[in-house]
Amino acid sequence: MSKSLPKRSENYSEWYNELVKRADLAENSAVRGCMVIKPYGYSIWEKMQRALDDMFKETGHTNAYFPLFVPKSLFEAEEKNAEGFAKECAVVTHYRLKNDPNKPGKLIVDPEAKLEEELVVRPTSEAIIWNTYRNWIQSYRDLPLLINQWANVVRWEMRTRLFLRTAEFLWQEGHTAHATREEAIFETEQMLEVYATFAEQFMAVPVLRGKKTANERFAGADETYCIEAMMQDGRALQAGTSHFLGQNFAKAFDVKFVSKENKQEHVWGTSWGVSTRLMGALIMAHSDDEGLVLPPKLAPIQVVIVPIFKGEEQLAQISEAVAPIVKALKQRGVSVKFDNSDKQSPGFKFAEYELKGVPVRLAIGARDLANGTVEIARRDTKVKATYAIDSVVETVTNLLEDIQANIYQRALDFRANHLFKVDTWDEFLKIIESDELGFISAHWDGSPETEEKIKELTKATIRCITLDAEEEEGKCVLTGNPSSRRVIFAKAY
Ligand code: AMP
Repeated sequence: MSKSLPKRSENYSEWYNELVKRADLAENSAVRGCMVIKPYGYSIWEKMQRALDDMFKETGHTNAYFPLFVPKSLFEAEEKNAEGFAKECAVVTHYRLKNDPNKPGKLIVDPEAKLEEELVVRPTSEAIIWNTYRNWIQSYRDLPLLINQWANVVRWEMRTRLFLRTAEFLWQEGHTAHATREEAIFETEQMLEVYATFAEQFMAVPVLRGKKTANERFAGADETYCIEAMMQDGRALQAGTSHFLGQNFAKAFDVKFVSKENKQEHVWGTSWGVSTRLMGALIMAHSDDEGLVLPPKLAPIQVVIVPIFKGEEQLAQISEAVAPIVKALKQRGVSVKFDNSDKQSPGFKFAEYELKGVPVRLAIGARDLANGTVEIARRDTKVKATYAIDSVVETVTNLLEDIQANIYQRALDFRANHLFKVDTWDEFLKIIESDELGFISAHWDGSPETEEKIKELTKATIRCITLDAEEEEGKCVLTGNPSSRRVIFAKAY
């Protein structure tokens, strides 16, 4: 068995990196900032995709696919969007390599194969999609247009981290067009709620729903809504965004429709996305020093059965007793693995499935067979107990629900214990400089300069203005200027 993981309390960041690698989720690749998502990690992502995709379909969206490359002239069309992403763009300038005449066996870019127009590798697809929507939308009958795509995008990030921030990442991006401002805002808020529901009910990660400040807004949006999650080190992670685009892209790409009143109008837009960053959120929110803790709803293997045997005869007896359990669990839609391999010891397997975050582990040996019992261990609390073999299917199904609820509650309690209401700059500094980080609820005077200054002084950013923030007269925590509501500050990933 390889050495144990670094401890969260000693080096949270090292713990995370090691865990991602040892649990076989992902690894770094030959390209800086780009990761290989390994089969076990990808299985979790697939489960996320499936659940989200179902929710998108239920809210009336359909999937389509648009190209990876965006001609530079199109990319430039919405100026704010272009400016916002310009620094992170990978650009294709040539389309051919040729043999290097000076170095046999080496290739060089063929200078004669220069593209007439450079192609931007999409950092986000508004440009190519709105350019297409111009041809798809003529009348109010063509609206709303509710499209999602599952794709990869490239943002040339300088400081990268497996899953949390990579130069290429997988995501979905919804792009919708509407006849009215109200409808587009409804859509933006609806999709934020879809994300929040997914985070809470599937990932078991509680999130704050809020709006970004102007500084933190998506380039080209009139309003950016977000969900913010808290990691176990008290840092915030932006887990999803939903943007109200106003008529910005419609104007930039000349997308108009004839209204019921027979008038030409620009359409209203939204876009929304979540990425493989959610994998990072999932890992950081629940896992412990022994390994992953996965919510049953997203665990590739929900139940593992480990036989404890000496010799083939014992294994055969155990297998016979286990077969109906496996069958019954499968019938209930539970994904179960019977690990009858004789290559590893039960102890090794226990540690391995703990590392992989399998929610429920059954162990059954010769003595259990004689007694008609099974040992059941839950990953989240590590509590073990012995049950009658006839009650196993019922027990396991209940346990899966219980674990899902328990890890959500644990994360919710953690957040409640790390939410600090702060009214003075001294208190603010004390928290932000301590080891016990969290969300700071404080008054802010609403000015971008103050926000910038706080960031400069403390590295804390305004994560969001929560949608349920109550009106409350107060004074800005830095300037003392009047403020009418609290906002959430945190150090973030
Ligand atoms: P945006 O288009 O900037 O609103 O981002 C959409 C989603 O992708 C958000 O949920 C971000 O958290 C996520 N995201 C942004 N940049 C990255 C990145 N470099 N790696 C992984 N996820 C990202």
